[in-house]
Amino acid sequence: MIPDLLNAQKKFFKTGQTQEVAYRKKVLKSLLNHLITREQDITEALYKDFKKPEFESVLTETAIVIQDLKHTIKKLSKWAKPKRVFPALLNFPSSDYLYSEPYGNVLVIAPWNYPYQLAIAPLVGAIAAGNTVVLKPSELTPNTSALLSDIIKKVFKPEHVTVVQGGVGTSTQLLHQRWDYIFFTGSVNVGKIVAKAAAPNLTPITLELGGKNPCIIDETANIKLTAKRVVWGKFVNAGQTCIAPDYVLIHHTKKEAFYKAIQHEIELAYGQNPEDSKDLARIINIKNFERLSELLVNQKCKIGGQTNAKDLYIAPTIIDEPKLDSEVMKDEIFGPILPVVSYQDVSDLDRIILSYNKPLSLYVFSTNSAKAKQLIKKYSFGGGCINDTIVHFANHRLPFGGVGNSGIGAYHGQHTFDTFSHKKGVVKKANWLDIPVRYAPYKGKLNTVRKVLKWL
Ligand code: NAD
Repeated sequence: MIPDLLNAQKKFFKTGQTQEVAYRKKVLKSLLNHLITREQDITEALYKDFKKPEFESVLTETAIVIQDLKHTIKKLSKWAKPKRVFPALLNFPSSDYLYSEPYGNVLVIAPWNYPYQLAIAPLVGAIAAGNTVVLKPSELTPNTSALLSDIIKKVFKPEHVTVVQGGVGTSTQLLHQRWDYIFFTGSVNVGKIVAKAAAPNLTPITLELGGKNPCIIDETANIKLTAKRVVWGKFVNAGQTCIAPDYVLIHHTKKEAFYKAIQHEIELAYGQNPEDSKDLARIINIKNFERLSELLVNQKCKIGGQTNAKDLYIAPTIIDEPKLDSEVMKDEIFGPILPVVSYQDVSDLDRIILSYNKPLSLYVFSTNSAKAKQLIKKYSFGGGCINDTIVHFANHRLPFGGVGNSGIGAYHGQHTFDTFSHKKGVVKKANWLDIPVRYAPYKGKLNTVRKVLKWL
């Protein structure tokens, strides 16, 4: 079935219809209308999947997609047009162009944590750029994935876009096919499987992965505001966010004040008993619940620590000074657990941050602007913020992606369109003049060439 589907998409791509900008706009507008009409269904599906609060669903999934789609439709003609670039004087006389060409048949594999947004956003860019798409959403969010399939069926011909639902087996089958581009969002380990599957055909890939994101709070930080912004960025989606702060590194003089402030902010956000709060999502499944609960064993929970397997609930939890070799400090946490480690000076920051692979995000809280900028420059990471968490995601002008183990490539806004387009450089040479110096025989020409190159 999968090879047949891909063959149908290959055939459709060859008809050239997806390359027509008017056609791309038409289908994207139709998608926009459907997504607006079905917004309530989408937030309900997300609630069924992991009790994602409606407010968070709108803010972090549906609104962001609708905004992105509107922006793409508005800008598409401009992005798709061949761009004239300044020619090289060596090629005089010429006019030079950059063509954006669709790769062809694209595979998008999406994760469960933002199951709607992380499926639709790459899809929009791939279609805008003129490709066909097979989208494989996560099997862990069956309600959202079924709804995605239903919406896509109503908007697109299957030979243009199809949702293929399924788990690892389906994903493996899809990866065995020959694609022109693979866009994967998920864990580092599966990212490596995708890279291996792409290698035999040299298929270009984007890998949007994860990592252990540090959140540095220095001695000059505004602790009240810092605590508020850390609580939001860490516990939105119950901490199941690839760019959530993974662990806090706080100057030792500020730790106690931070604990007081964070306790206050957690209570303000989720009440005395966060389990009763309607504003806290649940852990996606029992496997992740058990993995996260294990991380709490033998740790000093300064705040929270309560769990309820029946409801897949884990309280917003702050762990005080975990050992750096303990499980909670090994891999990406991906849940509502925040370890706090105090530091004395910058050498401690180096020692800890540089002991991990390059993270997807890094956050610095400081009122010393020069120092904050220094830290941002010093460490390599995908993207981040000074004095806030996760909000860099919301600016479509900023490319979103990792570096090193946290990913390859980036997207958002025009970057998404560019990700799914091959940039074809073309020189259009004029015939009215043909400078003879480059042609053989070369005897006696080298000095002239050297002079010209020096002058250029
Ligand atoms: P995952 O890697 O387990 O799964 C992602 C997708 O890959 C799913 O569709 C799944 O069906 C498929 N898959 C799983 N195992 C596979 C295998 N062995 N072979 C082929 N396909 C396979 O990730 P997840 O648990 O869904 O998501 C959580 C991870 O994703 C976290 O590490 C998080 O940091 C990362 N993430 C990154 C971003 C980003 O934008 N960089 C965004 C969200 C999540």
